[in-house]
Amino acid sequence: MPWIPRGLRDGIVTSHYPQRSDGYGSGFRAAVTVSSAPTTRDELDSAARSCPTGAIAVTTEGGSVDRARCILCGRCVQMLPRVFQFSSTIETSTNQRAQLVVPEPEDDDSLEATRLELASRVRALRRSVHLRHVDAGSDGSDEWEIAALTNPVYDVQRLGIYFTASPRHADILLVTGLGSAGMAEPLRRTFDAMPNPKVVIAAGVDAIGGGLIGEGYASNGGVGSLVPVDVFIPGAPASPFTLLHGILLAINLLPARIARTGPLTGTAP
Ligand code: SF4
Repeated sequence: MPWIPRGLRDGIVTSHYPQRSDGYGSGFRAAVTVSSAPTTRDELDSAARSCPTGAIAVTTEGGSVDRARCILCGRCVQMLPRVFQFSSTIETSTNQRAQLVVPEPEDDDSLEATRLELASRVRALRRSVHLRHVDAGSDGSDEWEIAALTNPVYDVQRLGIYFTASPRHADILLVTGLGSAGMAEPLRRTFDAMPNPKVVIAAGVDAIGGGLIGEGYASNGGVGSLVPVDVFIPGAPASPFTLLHGILLAINLLPARIARTGPLTGTAP
């Protein structure tokens, strides 16, 4: 029973996020940021050419990174470290696809304010939310991170967040994968079977835009053309804390939708 002395030694390992800020430390590669350090157009162009997913755009004003396409390979950081840097911030999810393009205002004060607002919203909600996860053509990495959400470190049940096998019981649809042709119909049917109000999360760059594969004969280049996405969680794969931040953003949308549609109206055929 080695876990008994280990448990006594480690004590409580469960995170207090979002009540208190938390994360993985400064060395963690959660996202790429773009600094305003002086550079040349040639340097930016060659960094953009090296990007395997075309996530870097260069304009007369400088370079930008589309986190919806960035797979965190690190090539740009290696080539041009004074401009492109890894950031360890976990709060990179957004309600709008366009907000995933950086540079963006990402000061610590506004991130802290967002976290505190989400923490109070979770307290005020006073009900559980149920997530239905659908793998719409993932490589499996996103699922490892999602599975970690239920371990003792993240323990999402402490926030009233539960995974359900039935779309009839789900408030939030959590979708991973690039929207493969074979999963298009099952995904739509899952969405249709969920009662209103409902919120859809695209988790990971594959779900947002197709990742390295993009659009093709077997891929829809993301799930946005199949179901209406409300929350975008970047990352390849997104870390458990980033997933949790995205889920909290989704929970944040529910009260307004409940007020608009009323609780639990069935839409299923
Ligand atoms: S880290 Fe992201 S932006 Fe940079 S080269 Fe890789 S995929 Fe492109």
